Amino acid sequence: MPTLATQTAQRFTTRQLLLIDGERVDSIDGGTIEVIDPATERVIAHVAEARAADIDRAVAAARKSFADARWRGLTGDARARVLLRFAELIEAHAEELAHIDTLDNGMPLYMSRGAVAGAALQLRAFAGATTRIVGRAVSNAISLPGEYHAYTRREPVGVVGLITPWNGPLPTLITKLAPALASGCSLVVKPSEITPLSALRVGELALEAGVPAGVLNVVPGVGGDAGAAMANHGDINKISFTGSTAVGKELVRASAGNLKRITLELGGKSPCIVFDDADMAKAIPGAAMSVFMNSGQACIAGSRLFVERKAFDKVVDGVAQVAKNLKVGNGFEEGIDLGPLISARQRDRVASYIEAGRKEGGEVVTGGDSAGTSGFFLNPTVFANVGRDATIMREEIFGPVIVATPFDDVEELVEVANDTSYGLAAGIFSTNVNTVHKLAARLEAGNVYVNGYAMFDPTMPFGGMKQSGWGRELGEEGMDAFLETKSVWLAL
Ligand code: NAD
Repeated sequence: MPTLATQTAQRFTTRQLLLIDGERVDSIDGGTIEVIDPATERVIAHVAEARAADIDRAVAAARKSFADARWRGLTGDARARVLLRFAELIEAHAEELAHIDTLDNGMPLYMSRGAVAGAALQLRAFAGATTRIVGRAVSNAISLPGEYHAYTRREPVGVVGLITPWNGPLPTLITKLAPALASGCSLVVKPSEITPLSALRVGELALEAGVPAGVLNVVPGVGGDAGAAMANHGDINKISFTGSTAVGKELVRASAGNLKRITLELGGKSPCIVFDDADMAKAIPGAAMSVFMNSGQACIAGSRLFVERKAFDKVVDGVAQVAKNLKVGNGFEEGIDLGPLISARQRDRVASYIEAGRKEGGEVVTGGDSAGTSGFFLNPTVFANVGRDATIMREEIFGPVIVATPFDDVEELVEVANDTSYGLAAGIFSTNVNTVHKLAARLEAGNVYVNGYAMFDPTMPFGGMKQSGWGRELGEEGMDAFLETKSVWLAL
């Protein structure tokens, strides 16, 4: 009886082709990406690698579909019906999609299943939004002499490039794709070369749901090659990017060519704060999982733990205990809490941060070592007594490593919590509503979670301040990101 992992891998025994203009096609130069299962280090798929010429083909297909209005020209209701069918198909294929991301990324099944459920929810939410793309009548408010009929129109921004990372292949894609399709844009999707499989399957399901050919093209390719070709493309109107801050800055530079619009969802070094009055039954596992979820490979990871001094030992011991009890292993196995790191490179990078933390005088309370003999596994790691300027306090590690520091009062806390170039998320655990609301207002973070962490919903905007990004996804803001406003004047 083949295991789930083997069954899933059997889907990919043939070469996986690009999706351009509704057809599965090979890359022009025949280049190939080898996809690796991070839990076993085995090659699980060969995917056609898009290069600049393939990006040109995909952009041309998207442009043609935008120009002839085969999607943007539909009524909101007609687009909504397609998106609702798309959501149903995602649900009908929920297990298949979850298995693909667990195989490709390594995340435990409970996470990939949650991501698929979230994807369907988002598609339905943005299907509803298609019927609310409306302008304003401004005529009555015009102060110029004479009479005017003046109004605004909301129009899709055009051909949009979606560039996504490997740490949440399906959710980072759908968060962009649902509002982008709802708004009427035509898309070129470049998933991470490390995890391209679910995006290709999502592209097929979109076609099956009735998204017209050419509206959604999927072109896996290497960042510095296919990704850069998109960033520099003169016929792409907008790029919506999720990934590292370093690449985000490159996209900003490249956008100067045609002044394309950009949304950036970037990295973080988020504070997670526990007060002495917190409900410790929530706060201790909450603080631990704020960083250990997905083996720390989460942009919002609460990687800096600040604990009120009176509760410091209790909370750090508790978080260390949670860390020790987490089951690290192959995401397909029953009861696994943490899967592997995505690659040998990422595992070694995280290990070198742990080494730097030790060298800079940090105390390893638990973890700090590899787990298992094959696969890119690391044990969750808790550091204490780390200086404020230590590398592991300042840089995004993107691994299962938390650094705990005590604080004595709120003024000191606000100062250290905001002492970072990032501003993506923050967690607060406290039962005092005054403390919570006052602190939420002072933290420089786009998302503040109280007495919980990593809450997502299509109605709530998500995004970063400072070097964690530009713009917002989800919510009304997430839809606005794919729309332009046009002002129309008639002198009567
Ligand atoms: P990355 O920046 O290396 O790659 C992200 C995507 O960009 C990939 O598709 C990659 O191929 C592409 N890319 C790489 N170089 C490029 C270039 N020069 N031009 C255009 N595209 C290029 O990031 P990663 O390692 O895949 O993901 C981890 C990073 O993503 C972390 O920093 C993490 O914090 C961030 N992230 C942020 C969010 C968020 O919502 N804020 C969510 C998930 C991940």
